[in-house]
Amino acid sequence: MRKYVIMGVQGSGKGTQSQLLCEEFDLVHISVGDIFRWHVRNHTKLGAQVRRIMAAGELVDDDLVESVVRRRLDDHDWNYGFVIDGFPRNGRQAEFFMESYDIDAVIHLELPDDEVRRRVLSRRLCPNCGMDYNLIADRPEQEGRCDICGHELVTRADDTPEALEARLRDYHEKTRPVLELFRRKEVVHDVDGRPPLGDVQQAIRTTLGLPAYKG
Ligand code: AMP
Repeated sequence: MRKYVIMGVQGSGKGTQSQLLCEEFDLVHISVGDIFRWHVRNHTKLGAQVRRIMAAGELVDDDLVESVVRRRLDDHDWNYGFVIDGFPRNGRQAEFFMESYDIDAVIHLELPDDEVRRRVLSRRLCPNCGMDYNLIADRPEQEGRCDICGHELVTRADDTPEALEARLRDYHEKTRPVLELFRRKEVVHDVDGRPPLGDVQQAIRTTLGLPAYKG
């Protein structure tokens, strides 16, 4: 059983790196942001509660986040473990999490703010199949269309300069202290998020003592 948390500012590659780990080791990728986005897209009651907060780049209420995480983990569909992405994001969430679950490691993807701005503002998403693109490093073959399903690509509602600045501020003020909390438990593995994605994946596997990434 492998239980990991992946942390890093938006655009640091958490989603992509989590997916690569999960595919190979049969782990379940639990992205709190993806769960919320699903609810917004499907117009659920929860979606209505979080839509505006998310679009502004602000943090959703802790009680709501905790109930979503608890419900997701209670599904127990993670026989080999999980990678939690986007949680915990402040001290209270970290306390809730550490009281309820043991974790083996925190993967911390490091990326300077300027690089975050460059990446996030060129990010595009397929609302149909969830595929992520980047107009700098990972362009779709046909402009504005998903390579996988052909759907029109969109910009995430919270990938605007204003929302990004709010998220960067929250990250530095609220999420960094969470890292310090985990550091005291000696479970944090710092990984440079700047190299190409295969190199980052390899660095994660090396530091976690996992078999090599074959690309
Ligand atoms: P992400 O995809 O992780 O960037 O999350 C997108 C948005 O969902 C965030 O900007 C928040 O509005 C909300 N969100 C995701 N995870 C959390 C969390 N742990 N605590 C509060 N809000 C969250």
